[in-house]
Amino acid sequence: MRHCPACNIDFTGPLARCPLCQSALSGPASPSPFPEQNRYLRPRRLAAAIVLFVFGVGTLLLVFLGTLFAMPIDMLMASCVTLVVAWLVTNNAIVHAPDPLRVLCRLLLVLPLVALIWFIATRQAVVPEFVMPIASMVTLAFDVVLWIVLRRRFVERYAKYALMTIVLALLPWAMTWFGVVPWDLLARISALCAAIVLLALLVFAGRALSAESRRLFAA
Ligand SMILES: [Zn+2]
Repeated sequence: MRHCPACNIDFTGPLARCPLCQSALSGPASPSPFPEQNRYLRPRRLAAAIVLFVFGVGTLLLVFLGTLFAMPIDMLMASCVTLVVAWLVTNNAIVHAPDPLRVLCRLLLVLPLVALIWFIATRQAVVPEFVMPIASMVTLAFDVVLWIVLRRRFVERYAKYALMTIVLALLPWAMTWFGVVPWDLLARISALCAAIVLLALLVFAGRALSAESRRLFAA
């Protein structure tokens, strides 16, 4: 126990100063009732550093390619701001959210949806040609990595996001039927990836998945 001579109170844990009056404590420290903060924060700090690096590299690449292909300056600025906002949200989720992976799953689902709204508003063919297939494939890749790492826990906690991603990844291909996707190669590839992930989920996690969906729809 550490003792504050001014307040005449004992404290557990490795405190240097009294939290009440800030005077120096005396006596040997006893173990803190709280778990070591590092156990909770260290993996998150590492993940936050990796995410910062990835977004930093992404911004550098964007500026490099943007100037190389003479991208309009307002478009380049908007893309950079989008990246910074995405980094802020991701970083905040990693450091503060109780379940950062769930936040990221939802965030990644939002991207193709925002792209779809953007398409409905602007009718730009680039959205179903590039933006939606690429966003969906990135999300599918993220879900597959998460599945490989978490195995059973992925099916229990995140499979519903993977199923929604599959639907979103099929969407650009479905849009080709309405003739709004002039160049449809990426839309087809995205649909193929979605079909492969769906097949993998049904073959390797079919049982767990149906048990999980029963639980989901019963609730
Ligand atoms: Zn004190």
